[in-house]
Amino acid sequence: MAGGGQYDADTVISSGTYKAAIKSCGALKTLVDRAIDKNESGIALTRPPGHHALPKKAMGFCIFNSISIAAKYAEKKSQKTVIFDWDVHHGNGTQEIFYEQKNPLYISIHQTPLFPGTGSLNETGKNNGAGYNINIPLPSGMEDQDYNYIMDEIITPKINEYNPDLILVSAGFDGHKKDPLAGMELTSKAYKQMTKKLKTHKKPIIMALEGGYNHQALQNSINQVLQAMEVTPSQPEKPKEEKPKESTKNTARKIKKTHRIP
Ligand SMILES: [Zn+2]
Repeated sequence: MAGGGQYDADTVISSGTYKAAIKSCGALKTLVDRAIDKNESGIALTRPPGHHALPKKAMGFCIFNSISIAAKYAEKKSQKTVIFDWDVHHGNGTQEIFYEQKNPLYISIHQTPLFPGTGSLNETGKNNGAGYNINIPLPSGMEDQDYNYIMDEIITPKINEYNPDLILVSAGFDGHKKDPLAGMELTSKAYKQMTKKLKTHKKPIIMALEGGYNHQALQNSINQVLQAMEVTPSQPEKPKEEKPKESTKNTARKIKKTHRIP
């Protein structure tokens, strides 16, 4: 495949793919080093993405599972990590790689049903990893307030309980309402809100760019994340008071029961 071609139905490879994929992983390792040495956060705006890639197989636009490589690298340096995957698709590769391990804690919020078809609530980890794989599958049509609710009810308490050294994010922006590949109704601000909530843990945050297929939505959403990370100045804003859907509350209740979140 060195010269390029079609790896599978979704994954096209060019002569430059291998180098780009290696550099995507390298960028994340550099961010891990900077997080450990300088307590810095950062985002690797690289492609190809990684979270569908399996240990021995590329899949779904992904060549190497870059976020997992970053987590393993951090583990070698005695770091405890959370991988929070907010890409609209379930990160099946990341789940599979760490399914029997308690480090990292893997948390994915994603649309269901949707590619790749994994990510049910009952996939909670196995052996040493039992309880350390948290899937939050939601139907299409979820809005900012639904994601905010799940952050407050599930993700923030779980990260608090786990108390990681580093927070890694599989940052896909294909949950945006303008994205052509999925059916969520998020605005760019949802990503800012999630980043702000992650910042409350006061741990370095390392983000890997995953999906996002509407260029304008991608640009706006990344800009919101950078504002939350205080890389670019933030615009003043009025918070909107909106309630989550009843179905979101029901899903949250089930997940809390499964993962014993008070
Ligand atoms: Zn995606």
